[in-house]
Amino acid sequence: MARYTGPSCKKCRKLACKLFLKGTKCYTNCVMDKLSAVKKGKAPRRAKLSEYAVRLQEKQKAKFISGMTEVPFANLFNKATKATGQTGVQFIKYLETRLDNIVKRAGFATSLRLARQIVLHGHIKVNDKVVNVPSLQLKLGDKVTLDARLANNVNVKQALEDAEKRTLRPSFLEFDASKLTVTLLRWPDREESAYPVNDQLIVEHYSK
Ligand code: SF4
Repeated sequence: MARYTGPSCKKCRKLACKLFLKGTKCYTNCVMDKLSAVKKGKAPRRAKLSEYAVRLQEKQKAKFISGMTEVPFANLFNKATKATGQTGVQFIKYLETRLDNIVKRAGFATSLRLARQIVLHGHIKVNDKVVNVPSLQLKLGDKVTLDARLANNVNVKQALEDAEKRTLRPSFLEFDASKLTVTLLRWPDREESAYPVNDQLIVEHYSK
């Protein structure tokens, strides 16, 4: 399926929000930080958005962060509507606990794009079995292990360093550095999510 391969930073600029799509650069050399420093003190010039546009933007933010295309993204939302509990919260939980996202949050990859690549190339085991499906939905207690041969890869090393230095690893994951493994201890709380979006607006977007 077609996937957007254009400049990631353009998406952040369009939505006026840091989406953290480029790994380390998002913390060290982000164009949005530079722009906000320049604009500091000046009134924003954006036109007032319609209610529809506000809801659409929120959905787009979550979709871009997840790196998913519209159809699987909408399908995952549909799955959330059938689950018990609040749809928006459930949807974010599903996004958070996809295998590619967990690989990133474990500190094995600096970005979701790299995390997906690591999974697709068969460098990840789930409960000791190789899994090459980035969209796999993890269950409580699942153990995700990085292939030890990848530990010296320059991108992986950078990701592991970043996760330590910036304390990016969330507490719902238990990390074992000696085995390069994370275990999903519990479901992520909403405030621990890597999705700074208003889930209610996404629910409203798909309900219209
Ligand atoms: Fe680019 Fe990352 Fe900054 Fe977004 S957050 S503008 S992807 S560097």
